[in-house]
Amino acid sequence: MKISRFKQSVTDCPPLPTWPSGHKAAVSLTYDLDADVGKSWRNMDGLTTLSEAKFGAGRGLERLMGVMADHQVKSTFFVPGEICELYPEVVCEIADDGHEIGHHGYIHLAINRIRSIEQREEMDCGMKALAKLGIRPTGYRCPGWELTPFTLELLLEEGFRYDSSCMGDDRPYYLKSGSRKLLEMPVHWSLDDWVFFRFSNGNIYDGAGTMSDPQACLNTWKREVENAVMEGRHVTITMHPEVMGRGYRSHLLSEFIGWMKADANVWVATLDEVADHLKEPRPAMKETA
Ligand SMILES: [Zn+2]
Repeated sequence: MKISRFKQSVTDCPPLPTWPSGHKAAVSLTYDLDADVGKSWRNMDGLTTLSEAKFGAGRGLERLMGVMADHQVKSTFFVPGEICELYPEVVCEIADDGHEIGHHGYIHLAINRIRSIEQREEMDCGMKALAKLGIRPTGYRCPGWELTPFTLELLLEEGFRYDSSCMGDDRPYYLKSGSRKLLEMPVHWSLDDWVFFRFSNGNIYDGAGTMSDPQACLNTWKREVENAVMEGRHVTITMHPEVMGRGYRSHLLSEFIGWMKADANVWVATLDEVADHLKEPRPAMKETA
């Protein structure tokens, strides 16, 4: 395939680097550790739906941690503050294993549906909950992937190094706010386990589909990585432990990682490691009160 020579671009991307150890592309495996975060779960009668969510902080996570240990890869976990309070030992063990922890709100509110004052609360309470576990995140992902201009301002104010919620390019690029900018590590729905596997039974969540053949997911992700290898770029994969942690899906993930490492010549790295490699500065972070 010929790569376009078209020169115009509406996004501002840092130059693509050569990747470490002669790798042809980079992939970050990221997880949103949502589990049973949020008030809507606390007040609900549906113990079955609740139990499916809790699977993400328990059995599902345990299995995925095993897959990553087997392949010796590190990932980025975006963790809501309330999950730090509900399962502090779990979050600490993830961090102790060398995985990156990012900010994912406090009670996982859709920030585009709440007022500015609540957006600030989600940011501050999330920071405090992470700080209590000794974690200073450098990256942020907004719940539900709908960043707002106000939260972008908060990220710049706090001194975050990157966001991972937007889709304006498929290479790292800059989000702009006036004269300031923030590195974006872009995501996409097709690179998210939710659309392939999350079954919507009419309860809390929307946006979910039906359960796909795992090969449909694997093939999509492999084709994306093959294209990234051709273009020498970076890919962010998004997963949820309650979704990807089912046995046969974890097997699929293991196959995907094995293929990337053995056949595709891909560097598997956390988002912060990729930002390092892009020589993105680490802004001084605001003190968490
Ligand atoms: Zn989430």
